[in-house]
Amino acid sequence: MRKKLNILFIFLMISVFSIINPLIVSAQTGIACIDVYFDPGAPKPDPAEGCPDVAAPGEIPSADRTALLQQISTFINNGTISFSHDNDKNAMLGNGIVQRRVGTGTVEISTKALRMYVYMANQGFKFNVSSMIGGHSRCVKGSSPCRESAHWSGRGVDINNINDFDIDTNRSRESQNTLKNFMIVLNNMPTEISPRQIICSGNGVVDSSVLALQKGVSGIVDGHLDHVHIGY
Ligand SMILES: [Zn+2]
Repeated sequence: MRKKLNILFIFLMISVFSIINPLIVSAQTGIACIDVYFDPGAPKPDPAEGCPDVAAPGEIPSADRTALLQQISTFINNGTISFSHDNDKNAMLGNGIVQRRVGTGTVEISTKALRMYVYMANQGFKFNVSSMIGGHSRCVKGSSPCRESAHWSGRGVDINNINDFDIDTNRSRESQNTLKNFMIVLNNMPTEISPRQIICSGNGVVDSSVLALQKGVSGIVDGHLDHVHIGY
């Protein structure tokens, strides 16, 4: 009888734990983080570590392009925002119009994308833009017939380093949490500047908890293990 009771007790404890466990919530935002934080099969995090800290939604930057470009220039000059391609960087330090490197012509960067830059920097993120227009071709890689990329018309931004963590090479828990925090903040942006696409498959390896933070796509999009694509 006692043995049966012991088994029942253990069963009850497991049930209670599995109910309590998913209720871990970010102290700052109240966003439940269980789906974000725990990779299936990954070791349980230190309970003291809790949820990734995600900043509460911030102020919406105005749509004044001149003011936005001034703020972005300040972020470039103090090292908060950096670029892999000079054509992207020079546009941000200038009039927000990028000279294409592939094909001809110039592209005006979408105002919403500019507002996203300022918003994310104000949320405390330091990031590198691997490509805005950069050397992007018109068509999404591998699309046939051609599906025009958001980058081609100034509505796409690729970010490959967040808070000094390269997406791809550094798979430490801190690095993974940084990537997820970044994507959570993108998902919780005010509707007015909310991206249409958030695409990343994981930090170097496919990660279901990163896939769960995507937007505008339903699964793995090839070529997104080393950057987050943000599209408007
Ligand atoms: Zn992209």
